[in-house]
Amino acid sequence: MLYSKLLIPTLKEDPAEAEVISHRLMLRAGMIRKVAAGIYTYLPLGWRTVRKVAEIVRQEMDKAGAQEVMLPAVQPSELWKESGRWDYYGKELLRLKDRHDREFCIGPTAEEVITDLVRREVKSYKQLPMNLYQIQTKFRDEIRPRFGLMRGREFIMKDAYSFHKDKESAEAEYWNMYETYKRIFTRCGLNFRAVEADTGNIGGSFSHEFMVLAETGEDFIASCDSCDYAANVEKAECRPPEVVDTRRVPRDMLDEDDGGELKPIEKVHTPGKKTVEEVAEFLGVKTSKLVKTLIYKYARGVNAIPPLRETPQLRALFPDHGMGVAVVLVRGDHEVNEIKLSKILETSEPIELADEETVRRITDAPTGFAGPVGLSGIAYADDALRGMKNFITGGNEADTHLKNVNTRDFQASYFDLRNIVSGDACPKCGAGKIEIFKGIEVGHIFMLGTKYSEAMKCMFLDDDGDNKPMIMGCYGIGVGRTAAAAIEQNNDKNGIIWPAPIAPYEVAVLPLNINDKGVMDAATEIYESLKKAGVETVLDDRDLRPGFKFKDADLIGFPVSVVVGEKNLKDGLVEVKRRSTGEALKVRVSEAARKAGEILTK
Ligand code: ATP
Ligand code: MG
Repeated sequence: MLYSKLLIPTLKEDPAEAEVISHRLMLRAGMIRKVAAGIYTYLPLGWRTVRKVAEIVRQEMDKAGAQEVMLPAVQPSELWKESGRWDYYGKELLRLKDRHDREFCIGPTAEEVITDLVRREVKSYKQLPMNLYQIQTKFRDEIRPRFGLMRGREFIMKDAYSFHKDKESAEAEYWNMYETYKRIFTRCGLNFRAVEADTGNIGGSFSHEFMVLAETGEDFIASCDSCDYAANVEKAECRPPEVVDTRRVPRDMLDEDDGGELKPIEKVHTPGKKTVEEVAEFLGVKTSKLVKTLIYKYARGVNAIPPLRETPQLRALFPDHGMGVAVVLVRGDHEVNEIKLSKILETSEPIELADEETVRRITDAPTGFAGPVGLSGIAYADDALRGMKNFITGGNEADTHLKNVNTRDFQASYFDLRNIVSGDACPKCGAGKIEIFKGIEVGHIFMLGTKYSEAMKCMFLDDDGDNKPMIMGCYGIGVGRTAAAAIEQNNDKNGIIWPAPIAPYEVAVLPLNINDKGVMDAATEIYESLKKAGVETVLDDRDLRPGFKFKDADLIGFPVSVVVGEKNLKDGLVEVKRRSTGEALKVRVSEAARKAGEILTK
């Protein structure tokens, strides 16, 4: 392709709205343009890369035995009502009405539509297993669309759904997809890791996220420095501490500064000191010596049974029986894991910290001074508290904290409800220590079980004559996000360094002066032989100074450039340059195409 004919509106300056490198470089290299928040047009270069990622996905999915279909982007509400997700999905679901006032949504995912297809068309165990996938535009009305293609509202996803007659078959397909995903991301040239992810109510290790390691990632990965354990921090379980009963703590387990004893509670005046940091500094202790008391409000849902630990007193505070309140305790330097807490509270709706008014009603104190001692009801405490003694909590009174509080002093049930942190013992091997990395989730595989097949009656006739719900798995890949993640991992100050398999074009031929006939002839000869060899090549035929051409070639990130200049050409030579290392080789004109091809395959 001739550069002069291509729509490549490169930008010299960094666009102000782009916070992360991939977003910046995709805008600067003229690959994408924003149309509305989280909605983009893909320009020729951007679309070529997206298509290449999609093609790798397609080839590997086909090789793995999956079949490609194309489901509609607009989906009727009836199906979503059958699965129960019409009400549950919330504001991320873009809903609309047609001229007959019928409700639809733009698919954020397609479990309902595919389950509907399969329940109609597949009846017998003989037709199973089956894995169907599509590569299709999805819409999710994300609260904070950002980072370009990384978190868009409209984005391209490969979604696959498999159907099985039994657990063994479903598990086999799960691992088949696991291996397929490894091949896909390896072929895309990514440095990635498969990590255990939250499985909702399925349990076991049947959900993995494929994470591209990058500083700009929005996910945190807990990884053991000694065994192969790796999990999303959302899901990583914390190993409970050794001490179980602090009423009878063995002497040798107590810090020396505690004098080996559980001391009586002491009230301390802490004027205006509300945060963990302020109190710790004021009292001259580490934040790990404190216990934070957080009061959460959560929706129980109309039909949900109130959780066991909610007391009549707490409930009396909220006559609206749909709301619940939970008092949650974690060590001062730990954070509540709201996903774990939601599960403990048996709620599927988002939970949130209570407002000032609620905190006052429960603790009789302004926010910042809540503590478990003297509160009615049973608190939800993190397991780590069982290993603590003589700690500091709020005093349920303005400007007051309590010292030497122990688990003997309040009623609590203990759970794993915090985020794992760096330095924690590995939950799997126990011997290693946890390290935390940031990652970009590019793929997600998930064992669905019978959630959708039961709700939507997707049944099959088994060989024993029984009608049974199919067991399902689902498998997603963010196609645009994968392209963006590749840039996050492969760039320098001059621009993108594409892994060759997903580069928009493989080679740029750069004649340094198009008005020199010798230069243009040699450049054209190389360009033609690259094209003939099937190499995707751009000939930069613009009448521009060499500096501009080099800048654009580096910004766009052609894996290989062939530089044709008067000086080298006098000796019959041109320069073949590799973008990733900057290394340049002088070769004869007739050798240039072969050499470029060789670099690409290495
Ligand atoms: P996230 O936690 O990042 O919101 P998710 O868990 O909602 O992701 P899935 O529902 O598992 O994502 O979707 C499958 C894949 O689709 C993800 O692994 C990701 O690569 C991609 N994806 C999800 N949301 C977006 C988005 N807003 N923009 C671009 N890609 C996305
Ligand atoms: Mg999401």
